[in-house]
Amino acid sequence: MMKKPNILLIYTGGTIGMVKDADTGSLKAFDFRNILKRIPELRLLDCNIKSIAFKEPIDSSNMQPKYWITIAEIIESNYSKCDGFVVLHGSDTMSYSASALSFILEDLAKPVIFTGSQLPIGDLRTDAKENLITSIQMASQHENGSPVIREVGLYFEYKLYRGNRTTKINSEHFEAFESPNYPDLAESGVHLNINTSFLNRPSPSLHLKVNKKLNTNVGVLKLFPGISRPIVEAILNTKDLKGLVVETYGSGNASTEQWFIGLLKQAISNGIHIVNVTQCVRGKVIMGQYETSSDLKSIGVISGKDLTTEAAITKLMYLLGHTEEITDFKGVFETSLRGEMS
Ligand code: ASP
Repeated sequence: MMKKPNILLIYTGGTIGMVKDADTGSLKAFDFRNILKRIPELRLLDCNIKSIAFKEPIDSSNMQPKYWITIAEIIESNYSKCDGFVVLHGSDTMSYSASALSFILEDLAKPVIFTGSQLPIGDLRTDAKENLITSIQMASQHENGSPVIREVGLYFEYKLYRGNRTTKINSEHFEAFESPNYPDLAESGVHLNINTSFLNRPSPSLHLKVNKKLNTNVGVLKLFPGISRPIVEAILNTKDLKGLVVETYGSGNASTEQWFIGLLKQAISNGIHIVNVTQCVRGKVIMGQYETSSDLKSIGVISGKDLTTEAAITKLMYLLGHTEEITDFKGVFETSLRGEMS
């Protein structure tokens, strides 16, 4: 008989770990070591649960790459002891963190599931319990002694998504996330339905490698009709800038004005990597399909294909942290490394 899986909960902060102070009505973080007391239902799950919490839990708007490394190091140091990890995180920047962790954790062969909630765990109508309980169940799924999910996922409101494919789309509804360009990995209804054919299936015997070097000299430039030269110049002339994600129109189109293409061309020849992603929620960049993207293609802009901005910016940070190992940056960027692009 298979032993009960060991699941580690990593609490970083966010609404999920908060309770309302009965006197003041304001939300405050509760001591996560009491999680089993607060949610006795967790004892009914067929796994052993341990938890670890950030000393000072953060609202995820204060998320920083150094905290991604902290999460990765917690996973690294518990990797051999645990069968799965559930990261409790504020929803606001959860897609950035899930994307970043997917790149940081190379050759991951165990589940790392991000989750959170729109209402605090102490609220009567909370979505936190379902999100937490089902995330733990997802992380506990096994087949032939190996975990079923062997990648970074994000579970929210009955759906498990590939983490680096998600984006937060709603601050009001319980259904706060979407995976616009990749199918859901699993759905929770009366049964847990896992869409096995869409999962990453690395060999369970892989050895985790944790990439801790990230280069944060990156930026995002969202285009709009009328964007002025000084704005584009200011961004491209930012000191130490190494990579820029440009959010373009439609299938990767942009203004053909000479000053604009000239500035991008100059930046690329100065060694700045420029990635083209689309402002559209669905679909992908196809440079050269329209005249308005042909120049971008010919000056060497990198195609972000159907990457989310969250995945594009974190992929840039990761690859720029490893440039000494990369000879063809554009080629590597345009290759799917963790199932983040089609
Ligand atoms: N502002 C909160 C955070 O992202 C919202 C949440 O927890 O969902 O930390």
